[in-house]
Amino acid sequence: MPGKYQVTPRGRGTSPRQQAEWRQRHGQPIDLESQQGTILAIVEAIREAESFNPDIYDRIVRHLAREGHPILPKAVIRRGYLALIEAGIAPRNDLVLQRLQMKPTRTQSGVAPVTVLTKPYPCPGACVFCPDDVRMPKSYLSNEPGAMRALMLDFDPYVQTAERIKALRRIGHTVDKIELLILGGTWSCYPRDYQEWFVRRCFDAMNTTESPDLIEAYRLNENAPHRNVGLVIETRPDHISADEVVWLRQLGVTRVQLGVQSLDDHLLELNKRGHTAEESRRAIRLLRSSGFKIAVHWMPNLLGATPESDLADFETLWADPALRPDEIKIYPTGLIRGTELYDHYERGEYHPYDEETLIDLLAACKKLVPPYCRINRLMRDIPAPEIAEGVTTSNLRQIVQQRLRAEGSPCRCIRCREVRREPVDAEAVRIDQIEYQTDHSRELFLQALTGQDRLAGFLRLSLPISPAPIAEFDGQAIIRQVQVYGPVVGIDAESGQQAQHRGLGTRLIEEACVMAGNNGFTRIAVIAAVGTREYYRRLGFDLGDLYMSKEL
Ligand code: SF4
Ligand SMILES: [Zn+2]
Repeated sequence: MPGKYQVTPRGRGTSPRQQAEWRQRHGQPIDLESQQGTILAIVEAIREAESFNPDIYDRIVRHLAREGHPILPKAVIRRGYLALIEAGIAPRNDLVLQRLQMKPTRTQSGVAPVTVLTKPYPCPGACVFCPDDVRMPKSYLSNEPGAMRALMLDFDPYVQTAERIKALRRIGHTVDKIELLILGGTWSCYPRDYQEWFVRRCFDAMNTTESPDLIEAYRLNENAPHRNVGLVIETRPDHISADEVVWLRQLGVTRVQLGVQSLDDHLLELNKRGHTAEESRRAIRLLRSSGFKIAVHWMPNLLGATPESDLADFETLWADPALRPDEIKIYPTGLIRGTELYDHYERGEYHPYDEETLIDLLAACKKLVPPYCRINRLMRDIPAPEIAEGVTTSNLRQIVQQRLRAEGSPCRCIRCREVRREPVDAEAVRIDQIEYQTDHSRELFLQALTGQDRLAGFLRLSLPISPAPIAEFDGQAIIRQVQVYGPVVGIDAESGQQAQHRGLGTRLIEEACVMAGNNGFTRIAVIAAVGTREYYRRLGFDLGDLYMSKEL
């Protein structure tokens, strides 16, 4: 890319200032001799600060600058401090290291996300809006963040995972609990031996050693340095079958991202999705009754849609007991050159919503989202230059949130209520329950709330009212998700005031067992990621073929 924005040796498109930061963070040696005084002064001030946030950090830096210290990037301070610790010049202080963490939001949900992409491979779909970049798995663009990284690493699962772990550690995160997100096209269309190899190589990287097969890789991961606490794939509704859910469990999958996009068969056809709304319902039923967490992708502004039809469609997601997903990614349709949708646009048959219309629609949608659901995204990260026409505002989420707050109806979704980095007083946490019905279960959403009504954790319990598709846990209650918030703390570390490791997860599980027992169930199962097996064993769960379970 010529001009103002250049590409660093590793292909990151950044401004010259960001590049300088990047070089200092990743490679350039630090001149400890001349910078030691400044680093120690900042470390001392950070240690002494009663509370800490980016504004306080800026104040510290400005104050020291007035005293004649040079202004150094935070990454340099962090690296310099680590070097001084190693040299025995400065004592190690974990609080200071935590405060010097870069991009703290990355692990604030309690686990470190590691995203990897599968190789380019054909997708049976012919969706009119889907870009076709031959170098990439279908639907991804080579200049999307994350996708670019995968391309540079040749889509190698081992290298992608290992590099991501390294990068997260380099900027100060604890990476011993990993949620692995496998993205790229339609997972279920890849040959199964490729799927198995891909997952095993990701596990090899987490285990930091190679295994001859998947079973051995899983066994090693139970005590590995980077344990897998969640495995996510993305696929199409028409590829979910009774056989497929068993296979996904064999691979260790715990969460499925499902491209539903619309619940209107006419729109699905117009946009050449190649599946019906009924197939989405069937897929969700199969996945939920097999204990998976379900993240639905939904697209407003498809060809043929109007803001009114979109809002009605979104309402159906919550009104219909066959749907009611656990998480949602809202991806307003992006108009990308070279797609069939672009031809429609050129013929005047398609118009992207303007910003005001989209904000109105998203605000109205957000108001409909129940508190048991998490809105993971409100916009897809398509690089602005790829969008031929339409909204490219990168802070759309904040704008919508501000609008809702101003109207006095803030979003109630999980994400908006998470404790983030606030300290949690475990004594004050109370557990309350939201109940809702699906077409095959009563769902109990147990939420752990702080004194300020922030969400410190939650548990999803399914109480089935019809037979399970997998015989192994037929007739059992099933825990589909246990989530405790707060920055990741090491598996054996003390957690201080944060929510993780304060026994909150155990408290939620005990509560779920009581609820299941009270409702007549004699056994409870859990869809346990490989790296959480040890934890569940300690709570009395035994490992079966695909699930863990225990007698009530
Ligand atoms: S199913 Fe997904 S990847 Fe396949 S064409 Fe449609 S949008 Fe693209
Ligand atoms: Zn929200």
